[in-house]
Amino acid sequence: MVDRPEVALDELYREVVLDHYRHPRGRAPLSRVDARAHGLNPVCGDEVHLHLSLDGDRITGVEVQGRGCAICTASGSMMAELIPGRSEAEAGVFAEAFRSVMHGKPAPPDVDLGDLEALEGVKKFPVRVKCALLPWVTLADALRAWRDGATEATTTTEIEEAKP
Ligand code: ZN
Repeated sequence: MVDRPEVALDELYREVVLDHYRHPRGRAPLSRVDARAHGLNPVCGDEVHLHLSLDGDRITGVEVQGRGCAICTASGSMMAELIPGRSEAEAGVFAEAFRSVMHGKPAPPDVDLGDLEALEGVKKFPVRVKCALLPWVTLADALRAWRDGATEATTTTEIEEAKP
């Protein structure tokens, strides 16, 4: 367990992660919520309340609330920057690509993860991988509920064990 995971990240990336942690994006309440989900990572105590607004299958607004460690908060903030304006399918591609990176595999060459690349060093800490993936697992949950015609994912996500 690393108590201050940010110090384990490359110096270059640390500032990017800390900036997202200190000034998280996507905190403004949405005027309309079309899908929502609640994610919980009991190992760390991270909690994500995710609201989305959609126009057709396009994500027009992202609101990320909750309490989390630096890595979880930064990952959620980066997600709030990346996915507005994307289709539901494109958001899924980002989620899959980031999951690959966190599991030590390369992202597809045509996927630009933006600031998320700053979290790549987290893959060396399997416990922290859960923190980084939680906002994305919660996103998948919200979109799944939305596809099913529900406005709310009522299940709490207990994130799966990361494969070493
Ligand atoms: Zn965490």
